Amino acid sequence: MAAETPTFKLVLVGDGGTGKTTFVKRHLTGEFEKKYVATLGVEVHPLGFHTNFGPICFNTWDTAGQEKFGGLRDGYYIQGQCAIIMFDVTSRITYKNVPNWHRDLVRVCENIPIVLCGNKVDVKERKVKAKAITFHRKKNLQYYDISAKSNYNFEKPFLWLARKLVGNPNLEFAAAPALAPPEVFIDPAQQAAMENDLIAATQAPLPAEDDDELI
Ligand code: GDP
Ligand code: MG
Repeated sequence: MAAETPTFKLVLVGDGGTGKTTFVKRHLTGEFEKKYVATLGVEVHPLGFHTNFGPICFNTWDTAGQEKFGGLRDGYYIQGQCAIIMFDVTSRITYKNVPNWHRDLVRVCENIPIVLCGNKVDVKERKVKAKAITFHRKKNLQYYDISAKSNYNFEKPFLWLARKLVGNPNLEFAAAPALAPPEVFIDPAQQAAMENDLIAATQAPLPAEDDDELI
């Protein structure tokens, strides 16, 4: 990406094992150009995209696994301009922890666009179903089902964030970035069912606050 490319710090958070590193490494140029921030033990991947308004770059911060031992240092969040919170749809506890990641994030980054991603939707035995995913609706985040290993919906979170950051809902990606080849394939029938479930879930009423514990 050229030096004048608009560049934004993207903070990637979520429980260990949810697939954050796998996700960020799919983008081949970003993986090639990544930088290590030794003081924080963090890798920064510059993920570039071509849009109808020109290039855009997300300097995507990824931990070296520190999240497995509790919260992340403030330096990880400071000057974050957008974020992805990831959980694993095959692990309920990782969804239950989403409010904690959100709280830590907005404590430092008060008003930034945030996408919630449920990863590993290629797995047939999904535990966190679309109708149980409601946190984003209460907090005005965007939600996407993704599968890092199959590249399913890889670009969706970046497109949504780019539109928010640029302030133009008509922004489109003009060319696909080079991605690592898919390691798994989602069965087309499974994908269609999943997409229908998500539409149905957005139309369902929100559960009352007190119901949270039951999910
Ligand atoms: P991190 O701790 O959040 O960075 O998670 P990793 O990227 O290290 O991934 C944790 C595990 O989940 C690894 O064994 C990955 O291969 C696996 N994984 C990551 N993404 C996917 C996915 O989309 N589908 C499946 N089935 N497994 C995944
Ligand atoms: Mg990791």
